[in-house]
Amino acid sequence: MTNNKRPAWDEYFLKLAMLASERSTCPRMHCGCVFVKDRFVLATGYNGSLPGHPHCEDVGCLVVDNHCVRTNHAEINALTQAAVHGVNIKGATAYITNMSCTTCAKALIAAGIKRVVVFSDFHDTLATQFYTQSGVEIAKLDIPGRTINYDIEKYASARKTENSK
Ligand SMILES: [Zn+2]
Ligand SMILES: [Zn+2]
Repeated sequence: MTNNKRPAWDEYFLKLAMLASERSTCPRMHCGCVFVKDRFVLATGYNGSLPGHPHCEDVGCLVVDNHCVRTNHAEINALTQAAVHGVNIKGATAYITNMSCTTCAKALIAAGIKRVVVFSDFHDTLATQFYTQSGVEIAKLDIPGRTINYDIEKYASARKTENSK
């Protein structure tokens, strides 16, 4: 089915967060995070193991107190990507598939994130309380459309490759 509705900005960046989450490697949670300022993508992250370490989906989760601790969460990985590349995220909006855990919320607040956009909740968290007390705006949206609408048959100037038939 083709849906030609042009996404609003919040929907567009939330969809990018969903795309990032496709790289997640922990079967207990797939989460994506995108930092955006002035409609410019500053950094992206998904929950995954440390570089060079084994993935949950290959060796199983490492569960402590009912949480898998093998992975860094999407927000932390987006923060570390920004840090590694020297990108200033102060004042940015965080588009996250799920409401942060308490630890990630505190990290984003300390890094100067001013707005958080999510479509799903995360249970047992003080994130909303911390965000609110720190003046961070929270927007909960409906889940964006889960399909990418690119109809290669329709666009006359798009050349098909062997793999895109
Ligand atoms: Zn895991
Ligand atoms: Zn977290």
